[in-house]
Amino acid sequence: MRSLSGTASWRACLVMLLIALPAPAPAESALTDAELRFVTANAEFTLFHEMGHLLIAELQLPVLGREEDAADQLGLIGLFLRNNQTKDRAFYRKLVDIAEYWRLEWQRPKPAYEEVQPWDSHALDAQRFYNIACLIYGSDPDNLDWVLETTGLPAERALYCDQEFAQARHAVEWFEARLRRPPNRPIRHRISVQYDPPPAHISNGQNILQRVRESGELEAVAKLASEMFDLPRDGQLRLSGCGSPDSWYDSRNVEVVLCYERLEHFLLLSREYSPTGTEAANPAPDETRITHGQPAKESTDSVR
Ligand SMILES: [Zn+2]
Repeated sequence: MRSLSGTASWRACLVMLLIALPAPAPAESALTDAELRFVTANAEFTLFHEMGHLLIAELQLPVLGREEDAADQLGLIGLFLRNNQTKDRAFYRKLVDIAEYWRLEWQRPKPAYEEVQPWDSHALDAQRFYNIACLIYGSDPDNLDWVLETTGLPAERALYCDQEFAQARHAVEWFEARLRRPPNRPIRHRISVQYDPPPAHISNGQNILQRVRESGELEAVAKLASEMFDLPRDGQLRLSGCGSPDSWYDSRNVEVVLCYERLEHFLLLSREYSPTGTEAANPAPDETRITHGQPAKESTDSVR
């Protein structure tokens, strides 16, 4: 009896101790495959979105509607063009991760000052979620019913998503056909990659830096833009500490900045909100779980 009581007491103390201990830093524990895919997919989309701002500014692309919406479309269509021959299920799971990020932003509890306002240059998080879900589904409606089920995109919108995707793809192909650098023209200007040291407040920042470096993703995106188009100026793509989960394009310095804080934010969102969220209720085919459920014309895409 004494022993049982002691055991219960010991367990109670252990529980209290565990509660009192600080939670493991998010980037220090091992990433699951789903978390890694979520962070990687959204980092890639963020880079393509910001490179969309760069191309709009540097190539003087005509833009109808809001530039932020155009940058989202450029980013997503850019991913399609980059994965030209490999639009398999893994590719679409990655795209749905990107849509689901905006659902998580939309539905997570947050203070009022973090809410996107109706007057903002960005669409509301919920609209970005549905816009991206629509483009994904519209790319191949005959084979992507599971995207409708996973995202909950209503039939009223889904009916015309193939046309929305075709419009966006046509716009990108239109300017690509006119502005692509001819093979015989030398590359005049390039986008270089810079890595700033991670700020001290980022959990395991050195590990994040190492992972991003090893991925080669920043170099690949910079090379793609430098070689595909005849850019009028040199530019930079920078991984930096910003003090907030942000990313932006600064046209004055021709610089795209991706913040360590944004990568950390992607991971926190994937861990805090998705496991019991929409993904569990909407598994993708072949899986028990899908992913998840301005200075001088500077475009800032912060998570407010
Ligand atoms: Zn933007």
